[in-house]
Amino acid sequence: MSGLFDLTGRVAVVTGANAGIGQAIAIALAGAGADIALVGRTPADETLAQIEALGRKGALISADLGTIGPVERIVSETLEKLGRLDFLINNAGIIRRADSVDFTEADWDAVIDTNLKSVFFLAQAAGRHMIRQGYGKIVNIASMLTFQGGIRVPSYTASKSGIGGLTKLLANEWSAKGVNVNAIAPGYIATANTTALRADAERNASILARIPAGRWGDASDLGGAAVFLCSRASDYVDGHILAVDGGWLAR
Ligand code: NDP
Repeated sequence: MSGLFDLTGRVAVVTGANAGIGQAIAIALAGAGADIALVGRTPADETLAQIEALGRKGALISADLGTIGPVERIVSETLEKLGRLDFLINNAGIIRRADSVDFTEADWDAVIDTNLKSVFFLAQAAGRHMIRQGYGKIVNIASMLTFQGGIRVPSYTASKSGIGGLTKLLANEWSAKGVNVNAIAPGYIATANTTALRADAERNASILARIPAGRWGDASDLGGAAVFLCSRASDYVDGHILAVDGGWLAR
């Protein structure tokens, strides 16, 4: 590996690390040399085993990010267990689907609290530490719906377009303090989140027909972008939303 992408000696916090994109990003960062705090409400035992098999250290941190209650503890436990905190991957997220005319306040609040409020306040808690140490990288997981409207997912679209704005705002505030804030916008990725879409043959065919790459993304397709945005190769990349979408937005 080129030294430019070497993360040895660094520590990353990854939320929602037990499955899907968070798990794949945690493993990719460990593969580049980082130790990883695996944060979530479901223990990321399998991810931990894979990180340890790569010769890296991991720590399990139990936290439900449906509220901002745990954000300060996530930072302090990471420092206690792994000694530093250099990167935050704000990945945990949920989706609720219903027509906008029927959309409930409960489905609005659940998605906004998890996908937007916790993302901001965890970035704030980690960012305070990073600013003190004069170095850090935050990567928020956005979506195609950071750029597009979508349909039947109003709280999800609001949360993900909100993440786009916050990514730029935090980059503006923290860039000169040594903290880069960027986002990754995944396209259609085959995870538990998208099982129902893939099971609907008609929907699946229309999605595939629109993806220039002609296939669903795999969670591991996100790993390279995350390593890049945590590495010194991206030191002058800030406030950017990097689509990893098989060309979806190009069409
Ligand atoms: P998964 O459903 O596979 O994973 C979501 C992760 O978030 C899980 O680890 C889940 O934990 C965690 N999570 C959800 N709610 C909470 C909570 N309250 N507290 C702690 N952890 C929580 O989905 P993906 O891997 O597909 O999604 C990861 C991110 O990528 C999300 O932000 C999603 O919006 C985004 N994304 C995904 C796309 C896709 O096509 N898959 C496209 C664009 C964006 P648990 O297992 O305990 O529920």
